[in-house]
Amino acid sequence: MNFCSHCGAPVRFAIPSDDDRPRYLCDNCGTIHYQNPRIVAGSLPILGDRVLLCRRAIVPREGCWTLPAGFMENGETTPEAAIRETREEACAEIELGGLYTMVDLPHINQVYMIYLARLRDDVAPAFSAGPESLEVRLFREEDIPWSELAFSTITKTLECYFRDRARLEREARDVQTLDLYSLHSDVIRRW
Ligand SMILES: [Zn+2]
Repeated sequence: MNFCSHCGAPVRFAIPSDDDRPRYLCDNCGTIHYQNPRIVAGSLPILGDRVLLCRRAIVPREGCWTLPAGFMENGETTPEAAIRETREEACAEIELGGLYTMVDLPHINQVYMIYLARLRDDVAPAFSAGPESLEVRLFREEDIPWSELAFSTITKTLECYFRDRARLEREARDVQTLDLYSLHSDVIRRW
């Protein structure tokens, strides 16, 4: 930040007198510009034994595979953001389950919140590539392009899901019941 978004004067980066970390300060109007982490909300859409992935048409990680996810907008809830991003990137309608992975990324000031979801296949077509996707596809576990995933948060979420699903299967429980999958929270400090 070079200029105050409130009055347009140049800002300086310094620790305010009653604070413990540097902020962008405007000496002209007195505004302290606080900057805080951003939330990326998304979904892991499931249909039977397959999961939905999108191949990114945009930087960063253009051409790599990801789950539908993006920055929350003001005025919406995280479930609403997850549903909206899934609609925008995969043109897909989902029924949300619970929050499944929450990953802190302190080095880039982001928090990922991914919800489990059931992909609705009673609408046709069930999915297609939105403007930010080159391609949208369903993958079985053995076909997941692990080396071409866009972000470590996505890898983490898919690893958790297939591990949990395998455990539920061993326990002879219904792997399609999203309520049986509980939240994983984690910190990734760099990738
Ligand atoms: Zn100002």
